[in-house]
Amino acid sequence: MTDCIFCKMVSGEIEPDVVYETDDVLAFRDLNPQAPTHVLIIPKKHYSTTNDLQPENAELMGKLVLAAQKVAEIEGLSEQGYRMVLNCNEGAGQTVFHIHLHVLGGRCMQWPPG
Ligand code: 5GP
Ligand code: ZN
Repeated sequence: MTDCIFCKMVSGEIEPDVVYETDDVLAFRDLNPQAPTHVLIIPKKHYSTTNDLQPENAELMGKLVLAAQKVAEIEGLSEQGYRMVLNCNEGAGQTVFHIHLHVLGGRCMQWPPG
């Protein structure tokens, strides 16, 4: 996707603040952090929303969660805890249409979320 900012991060056209990377996923700091740690984890392949996922993408989505586990470890959040958020479409607050898993931590999280 040529006009997708997250695809531009994968291609290197835009250089994000990378926290962790594998062959399949890229984790980088959110531009507008909502917590002391706010990292976005994206699949390197473009999918606009979770509605576009197919059964064959199950392993990839598992890799996003495993990357979140790794990011939490890097950020020192494994014990105290962290929140993972996947917004799907405008009603849920999705603003960038390339799937991304938010990893938030370093402060007390409220429930229910806003
Ligand atoms: P959404 O609202 O779609 O779930 O989350 C999109 C996230 O991407 C927001 O938290 C926003 O701050 C972040 N974001 C938007 N543009 C950029 C950017 O150019 N660089 C980075 N690092 N984060 C961005
Ligand atoms: Zn994209």
